[in-house]
Amino acid sequence: MAGPLLLRSLFSASSRKSLSSHLVRPPCLSRGFTAGPASAAAAAATDAKVFLEPSRLRNVAVIAHVDHGKTTLMDRLLRQCGADIPHERAMDSISLERERGITIASKVTSISWKENELNMVDTPGHADFGGEVERVVGMVEGAVLVVDAGEGPLAQTKFVLAKALNYGLRPILLLNKVDRPSVSEERCDEVESLVFDLFANLGATEEQLDFPVLYASAKEGWASSTFTKDPPADVKNMSQLLDAIVRHVPPPKANLDAPFQMLVSMMEKDYYLGRILTGRVSSGIIHVGDRIHGLRSKESGVEKIEEGKVVKLMKKKGTNMVLIDSAGAGDIISMAGMASPSIGHTVANTEVMTALPTVVLDPPTISMTFGVNDSPLAGRDGTHLTGGKIGDRLMAEAETNLAINVLPGLSESYEVQGRGELQLGILIENMRREGFELSVSPPKVMYKTENGLKLEPIEEVTIEVNDEHVGLVMEALSHRRAEVADMGPVAGNVGRTRLSLTCPSRGLVGYRSVFSSDTRGTGFMHRAFLSIHVLLEILFFPFLLFSLLFQLHLVVMS
Ligand code: GDP
Repeated sequence: MAGPLLLRSLFSASSRKSLSSHLVRPPCLSRGFTAGPASAAAAAATDAKVFLEPSRLRNVAVIAHVDHGKTTLMDRLLRQCGADIPHERAMDSISLERERGITIASKVTSISWKENELNMVDTPGHADFGGEVERVVGMVEGAVLVVDAGEGPLAQTKFVLAKALNYGLRPILLLNKVDRPSVSEERCDEVESLVFDLFANLGATEEQLDFPVLYASAKEGWASSTFTKDPPADVKNMSQLLDAIVRHVPPPKANLDAPFQMLVSMMEKDYYLGRILTGRVSSGIIHVGDRIHGLRSKESGVEKIEEGKVVKLMKKKGTNMVLIDSAGAGDIISMAGMASPSIGHTVANTEVMTALPTVVLDPPTISMTFGVNDSPLAGRDGTHLTGGKIGDRLMAEAETNLAINVLPGLSESYEVQGRGELQLGILIENMRREGFELSVSPPKVMYKTENGLKLEPIEEVTIEVNDEHVGLVMEALSHRRAEVADMGPVAGNVGRTRLSLTCPSRGLVGYRSVFSSDTRGTGFMHRAFLSIHVLLEILFFPFLLFSLLFQLHLVVMS
């Protein structure tokens, strides 16, 4: 077993410099994999037991409400740490993410800062992709909460923050977009206290409440620990944020002497390498060539899925995959070599027979039926037409996307359960682009029965509209059983009103297009899952029955 003295940085500046001439692209890895410093190091040095010292690691998630500037911030951080970024929105690698300007899947990348290695996890800010946030919070110890200093915390800020606090992460608050004319120091103080209240309401610990605050303009590429709109040129960069991460986020608690264990948090399929499993090494050390096995927890105990060998170990550096020879506890890595384990499974040394606990996901709230296109125009648009092909594609999606459940239905149809219309819409669009032709039913809200009571999902809705549209929006939403929780003018935006409401998901199905036309396309609406409540009609039903019988009784008596 390697002791701490043997530890050596994989990516130290000196080795990078001296080994840069060895960088070659292996012939079998076509998709942006680079045989980086680590594999070159293996060729040059005989010591294969090189991995990162846990005290020099920081694992951090970047969380935010949609459009608060998270992607812009990630671009800046990558650039500052020397990553070669070919275009804007470097972390949004899925084509639909770039087209729509939203992050759909969580991604991890690592950047070197001074003597440290920061594993940064980029997460989606849209509630429909909340499952992506849930599955990565267990990999990190800290979170950078990005909040638009003009808008303040919104529905998804609360959702992602709740998850982060629940997992005991140490947060750092970054008030972004301070370059905007409407953002003043007073406004930042206001937003800071709103966020503090949110922390307190979500049950943050004393330690979590002691979060540092930074002021930033991701667009201009700087962050500062004191309020300013124009920092001096020598500190007009992201150094203060990177230093705050190193100072404030604790290094991973890692036991290098225990046998190797890793919970799979992400899974991709590669044409050459097969399954690429990504996760955080929870204990031990792993080397290329080690024998490992995949484990799954079942009610009856732990089941062994497959035994195999580590064929490749990889780490994302900036926008490139870099091959490494070994990795130690606390680090976030990817590996190839196993064909069966998936997200939520444990990959471990063959002597280990215990599976790591998996993350608990919120339940799906909406479902749609996917089936074969049986219209007279069938077969004109796509090449994958049969129920079998559609089923295989949906099952493959459910394997990599934990927030989606697929249940086989009647006559070659499948019930697909997810978190929202956008999430299922993205899946349909992806399938359409891949050449699938299918028919889909309108979305249905999913109910749950517990102790004989029917429960339904309730969502928190934040709406921002021009003052003249408030009446129309309120009327439409009251018909959909929404209840207003808060209402007021938007700070720094004259003539705009913000409404916070709670509404059953069934009331919101199909509302987005009505909202767009009611507000002439000028309104914003954000939704996030809040809780599950008893269906109100169920409570009313006994009451209605009783009053009907009572009236009948009165009629008979008279
Ligand atoms: P995300 O949805 O959280 O990833 O947000 P994006 O990074 O896509 O940013 C949303 C919008 O805000 C884009 O139009 C950005 O150009 C803009 N933006 C991001 N950061 C800043 C900032 O610091 N200042 C200003 N004025 N705009 C910003």
